[in-house]
Amino acid sequence: MEKNIAVIKGDGIGPEVVNEAIKVLDAVAKKYGHQFNYTDILMGGCSIDAYGVPLTDEALPIAKKSDAVLLGSIGGDAKTSPWYKLDPKLRPEAGLLKIRKELGLFANLRPAYLYPELADACPLKESTSEKGFDMVIVRELTGGLYFGERSTEVIDGETVAHDNLVYSESEIRRIAKRGFDIAMKRRQKVTSVDKANVLDTSRLWRKIVNEVAQDYPEVTVEHMYVDNAAMQLVKDPAQFDVILTENMFGDILSDEASMVTGSIGMLSSASLRADSFGMYEPSGGSAPDIAGQNIANPIATILSAAMMLRYSFDMDEEADAVEQAVKKVIADGYRTIDIDQNNTRVSTTEMGDLIVERL
Ligand code: NAD
Repeated sequence: MEKNIAVIKGDGIGPEVVNEAIKVLDAVAKKYGHQFNYTDILMGGCSIDAYGVPLTDEALPIAKKSDAVLLGSIGGDAKTSPWYKLDPKLRPEAGLLKIRKELGLFANLRPAYLYPELADACPLKESTSEKGFDMVIVRELTGGLYFGERSTEVIDGETVAHDNLVYSESEIRRIAKRGFDIAMKRRQKVTSVDKANVLDTSRLWRKIVNEVAQDYPEVTVEHMYVDNAAMQLVKDPAQFDVILTENMFGDILSDEASMVTGSIGMLSSASLRADSFGMYEPSGGSAPDIAGQNIANPIATILSAAMMLRYSFDMDEEADAVEQAVKKVIADGYRTIDIDQNNTRVSTTEMGDLIVERL
């Protein structure tokens, strides 16, 4: 199969970790007889340096024409970088917001997996972490409170702010379908998180999720209030397979789920459209403190590339192979600086090579 991938290496450790993901994708292509064509796009600080804007109008159509986008990370040190002296509309993050909006990415996927060998990094009780966990949070990304009307006004001498929380049936239905489709590729359980005891949007959310569930008889569905979900994530994370939720709840719960794995350099993410197109990036940032030293962990980006194989290219076998190779390299005791616990410390490029060897 031939696929066109737009590549945004970005700033900081972005180019280093993306190069390793491409190394792994090339090895996959060779092993399984595919062809991946890459087109580079500048975005973030590097684009500001070259063109004065974080994303040019010429760059966007390249991303739109591709089958998927692989992104490293963008941004620099907010205290020292000249990029943060610019107008907010011209700063690195403006490029990311623009591309997300223009590409219509409404579903955000953040897997949280605890590697048994990295259980020491998990901040939870040993009796909880030893059970392990493997979940994915499917978050609605373009609706809800963050996109509703908002205002701050003075009423009767007092300042009053309001944010509007809106969800339509169709917005809920398309993200619910995504969640169930993903559950079908996993352990076939969906936990839908809402606040239906209080919010009208949540009551509609629950109704539509139940309707969509009718089309997926193999999938077990449960509903959980968001306050309980926040507790269950630290009490018994092993119970979750797919957590399906709205924008703000997902924002908070996905960061909580990342934290309980204890290792930011291992966490992938994807943002998807209704068709197979998606943008894939590590959950962490550009880590300017360690950039250019060949010590960053490339695994989050390599696992993001595996998600690209699974969700955009429907290459489940290839994605499984990459994920297994990562598990093997961890089991064999190789570690980058962020997860080093008296094991064999390797560089960014060595980690990429070791994963390719195990494919
Ligand atoms: P960060 O995730 O870049 O770094 C936090 C800490 O984690 C640092 O100590 C860093 O060294 C470490 N770290 C992160 N990824 C690592 C990896 N792969 N290997 C080893 N260590 C790793 O978060 P920050 O310092 O808050 O942000 C730095 C910059 O990144 C900022 O400009 C921020 O806006 C940007 N950022 C970009 C994205 C994105 O591109 N999607 C996301 C988050 C933050």
